[in-house]
Amino acid sequence: MTQATSGRTRQLPPFHCPYCGEEDLTPHGEDDGGWRCGACLRTFIVRLTGTGVTRS
Ligand SMILES: [Zn+2]
Repeated sequence: MTQATSGRTRQLPPFHCPYCGEEDLTPHGEDDGGWRCGACLRTFIVRLTGTGVTRS
């Protein structure tokens, strides 16, 4: 077994549903960052919009 944990390209899953706060999240859809909440049955996409942003 090889571990491909180097680099920071792999996105970690969100810990909580942003809509109901539950933690019952599973990957969903074919889009990167797509998740489905098993509690409220919402699907959403987590997308990085910037790093090191100091001004909006
Ligand atoms: Zn939810």
